[in-house]
Amino acid sequence: MKAVVFRDPETRVSVAEVELAAPRAGEVRVKIAAAGVCHSDLHVKRGEWDAPAPMVMGHEGSGVVVELGEGVTSLAVGDHVVLSWVPPCGECRYCLQGHEARCQKVATVVAPKGVLFDGTSRLSLPAADGGEPSTAEPLHHYLGVSSYAEEVVVPASGAIKVRDDAPLDVIAVVGCAVATGVGAVLNTAAVEPGSTVAVIGCGGVGLNVVQGAKLAGAERIVAIDVVPEKTDMALQFGATDRIDASERDAVEQLLELIPDGVDYAFDAIGRTVTTEQAIRMLGLGGAAVIVGLPPTGAKASFEPLVLAEADQRILGSNYGSVRPSIDIPALVDRYMDGQLKIDPLISGRRPLDEAAEALADLEAGGVLRTLLIP
Ligand SMILES: [Zn+2]
Ligand SMILES: [Zn+2]
Repeated sequence: MKAVVFRDPETRVSVAEVELAAPRAGEVRVKIAAAGVCHSDLHVKRGEWDAPAPMVMGHEGSGVVVELGEGVTSLAVGDHVVLSWVPPCGECRYCLQGHEARCQKVATVVAPKGVLFDGTSRLSLPAADGGEPSTAEPLHHYLGVSSYAEEVVVPASGAIKVRDDAPLDVIAVVGCAVATGVGAVLNTAAVEPGSTVAVIGCGGVGLNVVQGAKLAGAERIVAIDVVPEKTDMALQFGATDRIDASERDAVEQLLELIPDGVDYAFDAIGRTVTTEQAIRMLGLGGAAVIVGLPPTGAKASFEPLVLAEADQRILGSNYGSVRPSIDIPALVDRYMDGQLKIDPLISGRRPLDEAAEALADLEAGGVLRTLLIP
């Protein structure tokens, strides 16, 4: 099958012929309908994270189940699914506590090693002409997904069944952008009605933070970005105010709008400067929530005395603290009920072999989400 392979930051991301083995026990094979191009894929492409390479890229996607591995009873062939880049193991102490986004087995095996739960990969590059199959080059999964491909084999817990009437070439982005953004508001921060909220960065994840804050009943939602088109969009997603951070210091402008500071400041970018701004925007009892992911090793600073005296908190939010099998179908329902906007997040659709162009578009900053359609 065709899949998009990442080798190293110097080698262009390109489509290759890849072998996909049959699903083993507890796994399923899914035919991909659409795969979203996310900033995390860009971090990988630029070599900013220690990602297991070579790998098939992509961690956001949707599709249809085409084959069940031994023992899988939670899914059937033909089910429509959204892929979750945390396939909960269901057995570790975090999964048992209901904190599935923290799944220990995903954090220690699946994600860092680029394999499935049994420690092996279903992906490989074909052996060179005439070579023994044993000489085939191993290929890694990305976050247990690898959705930039015609098909994937994933743990059954990472293929989340959703309703059949939801368009697969839209709801693919529920698996990362929507779950991460809305989940950060509803799950990680548990924003209360009447709260004041600042959102730094209005890209694919940030706009979902904005609409999550609206769902939570926030009274003021201040959208902050350096690209005016993105804060325009944020107003459509429920923001009540906007700040153009390209002009003047965003914190200074925020404190002109809300002199007491905000109850919640979300950093949907994940740069040192934006994390520090989020902390400085807080009012008494406020919480800064780090949603956007920085490069490995990045450091930010804050004044502990201010934090302690003002009873403030800094929260990290991984994957919107979601419980995939509960939250993903519920988010798809909210989209179908008109409570969540997803269509405006999708700025274009491209074939699989234009993955490099889609990543370049994202890097240039103009687009929200491009979907790759195999
Ligand atoms: Zn993502
Ligand atoms: Zn677990």
